Amino acid sequence: MADCIFCKIISGEIPSNKVYEDENIYAFRDIEPQAPVHVVVVPKEHIESANDITAENSGIVASIFEKIPQIAKELGVSESGYRIVNNCGKDAGQTVKHLHFHILGGTEGGKLY
Ligand code: AMP
Ligand code: ZN
Repeated sequence: MADCIFCKIISGEIPSNKVYEDENIYAFRDIEPQAPVHVVVVPKEHIESANDITAENSGIVASIFEKIPQIAKELGVSESGYRIVNNCGKDAGQTVKHLHFHILGGTEGGKLY
């Protein structure tokens, strides 16, 4: 997707602080961290939002969730705990229209709901 910030990060056109990459997934530090540990995990395939997850592409979502424990461990929040957040659409405040999951940790008990 030509105008997608996260596609540009994945291709290296926009620099990022990478924490994990494999053939399907890219993870990087959020540029405006909302927690002491704030990483964004994205599929390399451009999927606009959670509304666009289908039987055809849900395997990549599964692979993201399979990798999150390893990423969390490398970030040092595996034992202390972390939240996994997806914002879908306008009312959730989704600002980048490329499916992504936030990993938020180091918040010392900051449960939001
Ligand atoms: P959301 O608001 O759920 O769509 O999340 C988008 C996230 O992407 C926000 O937390 C932004 O801070 C983050 N973000 C936007 N541009 C960049 C960038 N160039 N590098 C890293 N994170 C970014
Ligand atoms: Zn994209």
